Amino acid sequence: MNYDYLIAGAGFAGCVLAERLASILNKKVLLVERRDHIAGNAYDYYDDNGVLIHKYGAHIFHTNHEDVWQYVNKFSQWNNYKHKVLVSVDGKLVTIPINLNTVNTLLNKRFNEAQLIEYFNSVRSVDLEIKNSRDVIVSQVGEYLYELIFKNYTFKHWGVYPEDLMPEVTRRIPVRFNDNEVYFSDIHQGLPVEGYTKLFKRMLENKNITILVNTDFKDAERIFKFKHLIFTGAIDYFFDYIHGRLPYRSLRFEFERHNRQYFQEAAVVNYPNDHVFTRIIEAKHMTQQVCPVTTIAREYPTNEGEPFYPMPMTYAHDIYRKYELEAMKLNGVYFVGRLAEYRYYDMDMVIKRALDVFKVIAGA
Ligand code: FAD
Ligand code: UDP
Repeated sequence: MNYDYLIAGAGFAGCVLAERLASILNKKVLLVERRDHIAGNAYDYYDDNGVLIHKYGAHIFHTNHEDVWQYVNKFSQWNNYKHKVLVSVDGKLVTIPINLNTVNTLLNKRFNEAQLIEYFNSVRSVDLEIKNSRDVIVSQVGEYLYELIFKNYTFKHWGVYPEDLMPEVTRRIPVRFNDNEVYFSDIHQGLPVEGYTKLFKRMLENKNITILVNTDFKDAERIFKFKHLIFTGAIDYFFDYIHGRLPYRSLRFEFERHNRQYFQEAAVVNYPNDHVFTRIIEAKHMTQQVCPVTTIAREYPTNEGEPFYPMPMTYAHDIYRKYELEAMKLNGVYFVGRLAEYRYYDMDMVIKRALDVFKVIAGA
């Protein structure tokens, strides 16, 4: 069998492109995935307790891109869940993003919105030139809240302090002056009603698509014939590490069953200053599944294991640029997604990228 496209990686990047190429352009696609399942890091499944869990950490879909939202709605209904995250500080559970209640609780105040703004103006470093992830926070809320909520969490999560990370990391999190507790500000938010894996299965239901799991790209490349290649794995691996290894941060998850309806008040509780783990996830809040037991996951950051997070550091991006130049020399090969482009993309951004690459391929 001759394929039009070999696609490596069955996450959003690979599967959106497989779906588009197969259904719109009638191309024959071979989709290979190194792990034993499709859906990439968005993979979810029912565990032994019958609880739908996210194997690789909490995945909440959020987007302002109408084209992306319309696209994902072709394959699933969405449950309208609005994400809430609590952070445990000095034994108190407060809201993150920092809002009016966060400050009033931690500082034992009764500020209104105007007073909160006045407080931030009195403590924040107003004229700071933003060079890193620490500057982003202290320029908005000052040193005290930075130390309580961001400094140690970031060190646990990334293995380096916010000073050493590019501004984009903590810029993901807004600061609010009112009591809005919703984590993301996007227009569209939610989870697929029947789970992400089901959504992926629907995307890939097409006679033009052949899926091989437990298959590494480099084996597939030797065995199968294909005209074009789309690679969504780690770009340094693709080029046999010729410019050295790119750093990635990973997570180890410890799952635990509890014989009660809910374990904690929100889907995610962050622990900046206590414990070795960073956060506890309880998927039931997000999936809105009704069942008598629950499963939680503690997240332990590590350098070993699946490459989840490209490191947002200047030296790492300098290495990446060398690989990007190698990639530009190749014809008929597309590098798409979080690992292939070495970017801290959310799911919607990966889908957007894949739809844009498809437009280029289709000549639209
Ligand atoms: P992936 O999903 O990583 O898919 C790439 C696939 O390629 C993987 O399945 C991998 O096994 C496979 N692969 C790699 N190398 C090879 C090879 N050599 N051969 C064959 N296959 C290969 N985004 C959000 O929008 N909201 C969230 O709430 C959110 N939470 C997250 C929480 C965590 C803990 C993490 C790690 C990420 C989160 N994300 C979230 C980001 C989201 O996971 C990514 O944006 C998305 O999964 C990226 O899709 P992708 O296809 O680029 O990569
Ligand atoms: N962060 C923090 N304390 C928190 C939450 C987030 O210091 O309680 C910082 C940390 O550096 C983290 C970044 O903000 O990596 C982005 O947080 P987000 O929840 O978006 O991370 P993700 O879900 O992608 O791991």
